[in-house]
Amino acid sequence: MRRLLGITKSITPIRLLNLLGVYVGYGISILLRRPVVLSMPSFISVEPVCGCNLACPECPVGTGELRREKGVMAVETLVQILDSIGKRAMWVNLFFQGEPLLNPNLPEMVSLFTGRKIFTSISTNGLLLTSTIAEQLVGSGLKEVIFSIDGASEEEYLAYRRGGSLQAAWDAVSIMAAVRKSKRAMFPRIVVQSLITSANEYSLSKIRSKALKLGADAVEFKTLHLHRGVDGEHLLPINKRYLRYTAEGKKRKGFFRLPCFRLWSTAVISWDGALALCCMDKEVEALGDLSEDLPKSWRSPAFNKLRHASLVGVGVPDICNQCSL
Ligand code: SF4
Ligand code: SF4
Repeated sequence: MRRLLGITKSITPIRLLNLLGVYVGYGISILLRRPVVLSMPSFISVEPVCGCNLACPECPVGTGELRREKGVMAVETLVQILDSIGKRAMWVNLFFQGEPLLNPNLPEMVSLFTGRKIFTSISTNGLLLTSTIAEQLVGSGLKEVIFSIDGASEEEYLAYRRGGSLQAAWDAVSIMAAVRKSKRAMFPRIVVQSLITSANEYSLSKIRSKALKLGADAVEFKTLHLHRGVDGEHLLPINKRYLRYTAEGKKRKGFFRLPCFRLWSTAVISWDGALALCCMDKEVEALGDLSEDLPKSWRSPAFNKLRHASLVGVGVPDICNQCSL
């Protein structure tokens, strides 16, 4: 309900037309088997920070394996992004590779999206959340906050969120719920999201109950993506229902039947303003070094080459074979 209401607020005629263009362009591309891009992205992911305060074992930021430069997005960079595609985008995930609360300007950044009536969501481990920051975020018009909490006990939690504290993570949920209530605000919608691992697969109902008791509006469970391949297999749950991969290892379930809709609908932008192929392109390297502005990069030959690969199913990047999106 909260999410629906938040999205409704972001609808404008230009955005609706743009969204229609996304679907029509995608449909025509399938018919012609060549990329036709009629619109700008309706959905964007923006990286406020590349870097984190935790060391999660299947995250390239947490393990320090990410090769690209780390950094914090400047407000000016965000303003440039908004000026170029903000009129057409209706939803932003203000996170990519890193912990958004490490950017001291996060509430200001959310306000900039709110000022342009764009639905804004952040995903955080919550450990840096204080009452003051929660108040600033509620005041900024943030529409959704996703807390990553993966255990009913400290031991289960630390199996994945290395360097964290389960109590501090639950406290963050309580703080956000209390501040929202004290301000009599409708937003942000509070979501607790758990990665299902071998450590917590038997505790999912406990995690759900705790989250709802503390004031979360929704609880979501996510399958684990293995960044390190076989080195991370001990983290996979035993129950096959919770697996993203088949028994043969790092292989995506099902077949790659339709081209990836995200290549027509969603732009992912790193802290320094570079365009990634999608949120699985963690090194922001699939499209090469695009020096043009965002609208040009969105329609660039490099991007269209990968759209074409996705349409014909030949030459898709490796990341697509592990993708469950
Ligand atoms: S909290 Fe998120 S960004 Fe940080 S190390 Fe863990 S998975 Fe990566
Ligand atoms: S990895 Fe491939 S299939 Fe997955 S979202 Fe990216 S482009 Fe689409």
